[in-house]
Amino acid sequence: MLYCTYDQYAAAGGTVPETAFGVLCSRASRMIDAATFGRAESHAAGCEACREALADACTQIISLLSAASAVGAVPGAASFSNDGYSVAFGSNASVAAAARQEAYEIIRTALGSDPHDLLYRGIL
Ligand SMILES: [Zn+2]
Repeated sequence: MLYCTYDQYAAAGGTVPETAFGVLCSRASRMIDAATFGRAESHAAGCEACREALADACTQIISLLSAASAVGAVPGAASFSNDGYSVAFGSNASVAAAARQEAYEIIRTALGSDPHDLLYRGIL
Protein backbone atom coordinates (compact mmCIF):
# COMPACT_ATOMS: atom_id res chain seq x y z
CA MET A 1 0.00 0.00 0.00
CA LEU A 2 1.01 3.65 -0.24
CA TYR A 3 1.33 5.29 3.15
CA CYS A 4 0.52 8.83 2.08
CA THR A 5 -1.34 10.64 -0.67
CA TYR A 6 -0.10 13.47 -2.82
CA ASP A 7 -2.47 15.79 -0.97
CA GLN A 8 -0.94 14.82 2.38
CA TYR A 9 2.55 15.23 0.96
CA ALA A 10 1.80 18.65 -0.51
CA ALA A 11 0.09 19.75 2.72
CA ALA A 12 3.26 18.77 4.62
CA GLY A 13 5.25 21.16 2.44
CA GLY A 14 6.57 18.66 -0.12
CA THR A 15 7.77 20.12 -3.40
CA VAL A 16 8.26 17.02 -5.58
CA PRO A 17 5.93 17.36 -8.60
CA GLU A 18 2.98 15.00 -8.78
CA THR A 19 4.51 13.28 -11.84
CA ALA A 20 7.47 12.08 -9.74
CA PHE A 21 5.43 11.52 -6.59
CA GLY A 22 4.06 8.11 -7.60
CA VAL A 23 7.37 6.30 -7.95
CA LEU A 24 8.93 7.98 -4.90
CA CYS A 25 5.88 7.24 -2.77
CA SER A 26 5.93 3.56 -3.71
CA ARG A 27 9.66 3.41 -2.94
CA ALA A 28 9.12 5.14 0.42
CA SER A 29 6.24 2.81 1.21
CA ARG A 30 8.37 -0.26 0.45
CA MET A 31 11.00 1.09 2.83
CA ILE A 32 8.32 1.35 5.52
CA ASP A 33 7.23 -2.23 4.78
CA ALA A 34 10.83 -3.40 5.04
CA ALA A 35 11.49 -1.51 8.29
CA THR A 36 8.34 -2.91 9.87
CA PHE A 37 8.75 -6.45 8.50
CA GLY A 38 5.49 -6.09 6.61
CA ARG A 39 3.50 -5.44 9.80
CA ALA A 40 2.64 -1.81 9.02
CA GLU A 41 0.12 -2.37 6.25
CA SER A 42 -2.38 -4.53 8.06
CA HIS A 43 -1.88 -2.70 11.33
CA ALA A 44 -2.37 0.78 9.85
CA ALA A 45 -5.67 -0.33 8.35
CA GLY A 46 -7.11 -0.48 11.86
CA CYS A 47 -4.99 1.98 13.81
CA GLU A 48 -5.41 5.65 13.01
CA ALA A 49 -2.55 6.82 15.22
CA CYS A 50 -0.01 4.62 13.47
CA ARG A 51 -1.53 5.36 10.07
CA GLU A 52 -0.96 9.08 10.68
CA ALA A 53 2.56 8.51 11.99
CA LEU A 54 3.43 6.43 8.95
CA ALA A 55 1.96 9.04 6.59
CA ASP A 56 4.18 11.60 8.28
CA ALA A 57 7.20 9.32 7.85
CA CYS A 58 6.27 8.62 4.25
CA THR A 59 6.15 12.31 3.29
CA GLN A 60 9.58 12.85 4.85
CA ILE A 61 11.11 9.83 3.14
CA ILE A 62 9.83 11.03 -0.23
CA SER A 63 11.69 14.29 0.29
CA LEU A 64 14.76 12.32 1.37
CA LEU A 65 14.64 10.08 -1.71
CA SER A 66 14.10 13.01 -3.98
CA ALA A 67 17.12 14.78 -2.56
CA ALA A 68 19.24 11.62 -2.56
CA SER A 69 18.50 10.91 -6.21
CA ALA A 70 19.39 14.50 -7.04
CA VAL A 71 22.72 14.32 -5.25
CA GLY A 72 23.39 10.87 -6.72
CA ALA A 73 23.27 12.44 -10.17
CA VAL A 74 26.03 14.88 -9.29
CA PRO A 75 29.47 13.20 -9.19
CA GLY A 76 31.38 14.22 -6.12
CA ALA A 77 28.43 15.79 -4.38
CA ALA A 78 28.48 14.77 -0.74
CA SER A 79 25.59 16.66 0.77
CA PHE A 80 22.15 17.79 -0.22
CA SER A 81 19.36 19.99 0.92
CA ASN A 82 15.87 19.71 -0.47
CA ASP A 83 12.41 20.39 0.90
CA GLY A 84 14.20 21.78 3.93
CA TYR A 85 15.84 18.40 4.47
CA SER A 86 19.61 18.55 4.81
CA VAL A 87 22.01 15.61 5.00
CA ALA A 88 25.77 15.33 4.49
CA PHE A 89 27.45 12.10 3.35
CA GLY A 90 31.03 10.98 3.73
CA SER A 91 31.28 10.01 0.09
CA ASN A 92 29.05 9.81 -2.94
CA ALA A 93 29.16 6.03 -2.89
CA SER A 94 27.44 5.96 0.49
CA VAL A 95 24.43 8.02 -0.58
CA ALA A 96 22.13 5.03 -1.07
CA ALA A 97 23.17 3.36 2.17
CA ALA A 98 22.91 6.63 4.08
CA ALA A 99 19.47 7.28 2.61
CA ARG A 100 18.29 3.86 3.80
CA GLN A 101 19.62 4.55 7.28
CA GLU A 102 18.04 8.01 7.32
CA ALA A 103 14.73 6.54 6.20
CA TYR A 104 14.79 4.09 9.09
CA GLU A 105 15.51 6.91 11.53
CA ILE A 106 12.58 8.89 10.09
CA ILE A 107 10.25 5.92 10.58
CA ARG A 108 11.54 5.30 14.10
CA THR A 109 11.13 8.96 15.02
CA ALA A 110 7.63 9.17 13.54
CA LEU A 111 6.49 6.12 15.52
CA GLY A 112 7.89 7.55 18.74
CA SER A 113 7.86 4.88 21.43
CA ASP A 114 6.44 2.45 18.84
CA PRO A 115 3.56 1.41 21.15
CA HIS A 116 2.35 -1.29 18.75
CA ASP A 117 5.76 -2.87 18.12
CA LEU A 118 5.88 -2.24 14.38
CA LEU A 119 9.67 -2.10 14.54
CA TYR A 120 10.10 -5.00 16.96
CA ARG A 121 12.77 -7.43 15.72
CA GLY A 122 12.27 -10.16 18.27
CA ILE A 123 15.77 -9.66 19.61
CA LEU A 124 17.85 -6.60 20.65
ZN1 LIG B 1 -0.92 1.35 16.01
